[in-house]
Amino acid sequence: PLILGLESSCDDTAAAVLRGREILSSVVMGQTELHAAFGGVVPEIAARAHAEKLDLAVEEAVSRAGVALADLDAVAVTAGPGLIGGVLSGVMLAKGLATGLGKPLLGVNHLAGHALTPRLTDGLAYPYLMLLVSGGHCQFLIARGPQEFTRLGGTIDDAPGEAFDKTARLLGLPQPGGPSVEEASKEADEKRFAFPRPLLDRPGCDLSFSGLKTALLRTRDKLVAEQGGLHETDRADLCAGFQAAVRDVLREKTRRALALYLAESPAAPAFAIAGGVAANKAIRAVLETLCAEDGVRFTAPPLALCTDNAAMIAYAGSELLAAGETADMTLAARPRWPLDRAAAPLLGSGK
Ligand code: ATP
Ligand code: FE
Repeated sequence: PLILGLESSCDDTAAAVLRGREILSSVVMGQTELHAAFGGVVPEIAARAHAEKLDLAVEEAVSRAGVALADLDAVAVTAGPGLIGGVLSGVMLAKGLATGLGKPLLGVNHLAGHALTPRLTDGLAYPYLMLLVSGGHCQFLIARGPQEFTRLGGTIDDAPGEAFDKTARLLGLPQPGGPSVEEASKEADEKRFAFPRPLLDRPGCDLSFSGLKTALLRTRDKLVAEQGGLHETDRADLCAGFQAAVRDVLREKTRRALALYLAESPAAPAFAIAGGVAANKAIRAVLETLCAEDGVRFTAPPLALCTDNAAMIAYAGSELLAAGETADMTLAARPRWPLDRAAAPLLGSGK
């Protein structure tokens, strides 16, 4: 089917057209400049920008795809979780389009969009194990169906990407922090500073990264007090020590998550890592090795499909359509909408 997807839950206004798993167009209009002066996303500014740009994004996506609006089989939209103003803009436009075209409306959970991306990019079969790891998220999920996810654990405080960004800031390295810290870590001594491996002593798949941040801050301040500043090698060794700690924690928790997943004897075991932190080669390498040891297929969707986009929303919508899970004009914008079915019995349908 030909599906239009809309995404406006945070600071990207996006529209995409998919035919099955083929991405005919994917338009993402960022708002970074609008929020730059405020040190974070300002909800009111985001909402106004979405309201202004959504029409344009749709027009562009449809024309780049070389289709006509009337050709669409359905309209999928992020109905949450996210900033309510933006989500509302998207939902209202999608309702208007679906009504006008007389086509089904599909209410997609933004997190489900991220979690289903490995099916779009690599055709993974259910159930697969997923690690979402970005600037805002860190969690293990077993994806069982378009609306069926089991959360095995996640961060109890910061996300790793956020910790990478903070580390870079503390050491005077450029943002985004992940790539700078990874670069600085090359050929540095990861063992010089002993950073903690939080929560490894506790069972389960939960993670924590805030203690690591504090340890880095303390070590930096101690060095500065002793030496009057940081040398290039100090900076590099701090980065390497920090990255090694994140890597070790993610490896051990992934090992546990894989064990829980494999205990279910999936027919075609597969693991997917998604989110900005998945770009980190050191982290990726240890997870790839773990998977290889367990005979689990390792996948990592391309970064452009891991950051916010509407192709993933259109794709998740296509799975809802196939399952007959269409929404109607009562579809609500939901600022909070956890993925786990136990926590969210109304997942996906908007009913
Ligand atoms: P959300 O999940 O809320 O969308 P986000 O917008 O921060 O969060 P992404 O764009 O997926 O998500 O990820 C950006 C994060 O990934 C940043 O924190 C960045 O530092 C981190 N990152 C990018 N490249 C690397 C890398 N090579 N190593 C470690 N972290 C990285
Ligand atoms: Fe997102």
